[in-house]
Amino acid sequence: MIGGAHDPDVLSLTDQQIVATVLEDLQWAMGLRARPLWERVYRWRLGIAQYTVGHGARLARIHALLARKPGIWVAGSSYYGISMNACMEKAPSQAQEILAFLGGARKGGRQA
Ligand SMILES: Cc1cc2nc3c(=O)[nH]c(=O)nc-3n(C[C@H](O)[C@H](O)[C@H](O)COP(=O)(O)OP(=O)(O)OC[C@H]3O[C@@H](n4cnc5c(N)ncnc54)[C@H](O)[C@@H]3O)c2cc1C
Repeated sequence: MIGGAHDPDVLSLTDQQIVATVLEDLQWAMGLRARPLWERVYRWRLGIAQYTVGHGARLARIHALLARKPGIWVAGSSYYGISMNACMEKAPSQAQEILAFLGGARKGGRQA
């Protein structure tokens, strides 16, 4: 994996240039000189959320605003952790909250 928020210009390289860069890095780091038998380049332009200083305060503000609008949730890697694990850890409790809200909303005659 190369590029990321600190090196976004990599995206403007051709596939051949990206592969060449990776091979150079592998040679430098591991002494690896062999060509790969199979290679593919995938570009994930906005693949991973980048938390900046103040993320916690922004989250607190989002939660305060959401508390005024029941029935809206935010989910996914932009909020509570970028890893798959973090996303999966948060999902069940959030799903429970949503189900509870929908059940409550139905009982109360509101349209969900
Ligand atoms: C190259 C790469 C490698 C990574 N490697 C790792 C790793 O090794 N370990 C790790 O823990 N994490 C890794 N991550 C991070 C992790 O994969 C992501 O942070 C995580 O998958 C984000 O989950 P998410 O549910 O927020 O978003 P996503 O997994 O992106 O899910 C969002 C879903 O919403 C759908 N969608 C988007 N817009 C709409 C719309 N308008 N209507 C309907 N559906 C929509 C998309 O199609 C997608 O299925 C990696 C990420 C990348 C990009």
